Amino acid sequence: MDFEPIASLETTRREFRAWLNAHSNVCTRWRELRHGEDTRKRVEFLRHWQRTLQSERWVAVHFPEEVGGRGGSLLEHLVVQQELARADAPPLINGAAVTIFAPTLLLFGTTQQRQRYLPPLLAAEELWCLGFSEPNAGSDLASLRTRAERQGDVFVVNGQKVWTTYANQADYGLFLVRTDPQAPPHRGISSLIVPMRSSGVTVRPLREITGDTDFNEVFLENVVVPATNLVGELNRGWDVILTALGHERGTLLLVDHVRRKVELEELHRWLRATGKANDLLVRQRFAEFWTEVAIMGLHGLALVSDLQHGRTPTNVSVLKLYGSELAQRFLDFALTAQGPYAQLWRGDDRVVRDGAWQHTWLMARAMTIASGTSEIQRNIIAQRLLGLPRN
Ligand SMILES: Cc1cc2nc3c(=O)[nH]c(=O)nc-3n(C[C@H](O)[C@H](O)[C@H](O)COP(=O)(O)OP(=O)(O)OC[C@H]3O[C@@H](n4cnc5c(N)ncnc54)[C@H](O)[C@@H]3O)c2cc1C
Repeated sequence: MDFEPIASLETTRREFRAWLNAHSNVCTRWRELRHGEDTRKRVEFLRHWQRTLQSERWVAVHFPEEVGGRGGSLLEHLVVQQELARADAPPLINGAAVTIFAPTLLLFGTTQQRQRYLPPLLAAEELWCLGFSEPNAGSDLASLRTRAERQGDVFVVNGQKVWTTYANQADYGLFLVRTDPQAPPHRGISSLIVPMRSSGVTVRPLREITGDTDFNEVFLENVVVPATNLVGELNRGWDVILTALGHERGTLLLVDHVRRKVELEELHRWLRATGKANDLLVRQRFAEFWTEVAIMGLHGLALVSDLQHGRTPTNVSVLKLYGSELAQRFLDFALTAQGPYAQLWRGDDRVVRDGAWQHTWLMARAMTIASGTSEIQRNIIAQRLLGLPRN
């Protein structure tokens, strides 16, 4: 593994950092909005931000120019994402679609599909959701039951999805559907682009523990979808999903340690300002977290090294497990350090940082579930990395 910075990446980093510095007012505005309860206002703000980024083609640097990228490398894209995290900039509203759906469409989509959907997706002119999970198909996604029946040149879709992030805001969704009920579970699944405003699509928002309503239930009743919306081959949707989730885990995780570091720095400032940093136990715990985030960064470098040398990354599950559990422990610490003030919520006169850590602490419960639970990551590590038997 090579620890030296790669010269071409540092050029991209400098160029993007300068651009971001010129837009630093956006980061300040985001700090005021990010923990607010008004989802619609937040979405509008984030939409505008992604459009601004895309006006200079910073959203997907590694994509070909004809669909809105800069024709750069995946590592250059990751550098841009890391800089966004470092500046504590607003996230991409279409972030999951940029990370998961867009690379999948590049690989499996037709030329027409790429040209039609990618430019408005990158510019957040059209928002996307991902309809994979169902009430009885989460970790065991292959048991999904939503049916799509081919009738002439359309599919008719019936079923239910759940936990569909931003389905209440989305224009389109990439849905996993069963197209051959007789085939074994991993076969007979296809992926379809479903226009969310179609007749027969009902979206019911779910209120989360944070008070936000980003998740939804999606009901599909005789929804007619053109057959041209099939992504990849019929009944080969499992290959599509494996590619999609591989992108999600790899790329999102590489940015996470930068985000944790920014949070730690914020906590550090607060501990010093309140005099709590003088407590020996607090200092010791803080040093432990600092070390752990540095370890996470080194795991990230190993992942970059794999990508750079064209190897399939081996430690993605380790990074996911370690990073998500570390985030929960770190936020427990941030709340414990507040003492009884930790019980206050935003809006209260005496709440610390307008309840930002309280909000993230609650949200962090989701980190060990989303994109594969901790138990599933442990299974993968045991079986694929350590070669242990299944039972
Ligand atoms: C923040 C967030 C965003 C999400 N966004 C989306 C989205 O946009 N689109 C979408 O489709 N889905 C989304 N999801 C859903 C997510 O993919 C599922 O929650 C996840 O895959 C787990 O599935 P489940 O909730 O059905 O839990 P289950 O699979 O029912 O698991 C329940 C418990 O059993 C354990 N378990 C299950 N199988 C095993 C096993 N073989 N061995 C050991 N333990 C096991 C799990 O670890 C868990 O603790 C999101 C979830 C979160 C938290």
